[in-house]
Amino acid sequence: MLNNLTMRYLPDYLIWMIYIAVFIFGLIIGSFLNVVIYRVPRNQSIINPPSHCPHCNTKLKWYDMIPLLSYIILKGKCRYCETKISFQYPLVEFLMGITFVIVFQKFGWSFQFVKWIIFAVLLFVTGAIDLIEGVIPDVIVVPGLITGVIFSIFNGKSSFLQSIYGLLFMAVFFLIIILLTRGGMGWGDLTLGIMIGSFLGFKLSLITLVFSFIIGAIAGLILIVLRKKGRKDAIPFGPFLSIAAFVASIYGYRILEIYYFR
Ligand SMILES: [Zn+2]
Repeated sequence: MLNNLTMRYLPDYLIWMIYIAVFIFGLIIGSFLNVVIYRVPRNQSIINPPSHCPHCNTKLKWYDMIPLLSYIILKGKCRYCETKISFQYPLVEFLMGITFVIVFQKFGWSFQFVKWIIFAVLLFVTGAIDLIEGVIPDVIVVPGLITGVIFSIFNGKSSFLQSIYGLLFMAVFFLIIILLTRGGMGWGDLTLGIMIGSFLGFKLSLITLVFSFIIGAIAGLILIVLRKKGRKDAIPFGPFLSIAAFVASIYGYRILEIYYFR
């Protein structure tokens, strides 16, 4: 077990190597998530067919699919037909690499790392699909919320109760919002909210909601100032919820402590 305590006694170069390995592992997962983000909203299998260029359909070789590097070497173009490759691909890979490093830094190599990296991946995929396609797919969020409950069972009875309180709280909150706004918020936000509640429990869910409305308000203002959106255009709420829940999963308890002890 490589937890934060044993890490403290390792020489610096070894710690650097571990972090680089974690980052590379994140890049590889990110590369797979690109496939998930593209195919799941289109109801395509994430295994078959193997990766190909969406323009010329040429099957990609392994050396066309090295995270980040292939994009840089190919200068962002398909090797076969020279069509531009979306910047989204290296961006998703890079962000996943960073995400893995952040979660690893917080939890070390432990059972908690496995739980919270799965949560981070679920949030990332859901937020990205909502941002790009404007839908929150049940095939990701429903298994996700069951996973949250199962992890809480492994963490003991009080954790399990927390999970149930969290998901019930989010369910009631989003039901009320949906009824009040009449379509401003969708059923997808409700299921995503329930998934978040099942992982985070009541207190961190509350923090997530506060964060997501703050991030959403700031992003909305920026978009209006940049005149990208009118005041009445709908902006998907899933990405804000996802970012807020990720921040809460890493820094939530620290933020709660600040409020308790002052
Ligand atoms: Zn091509």
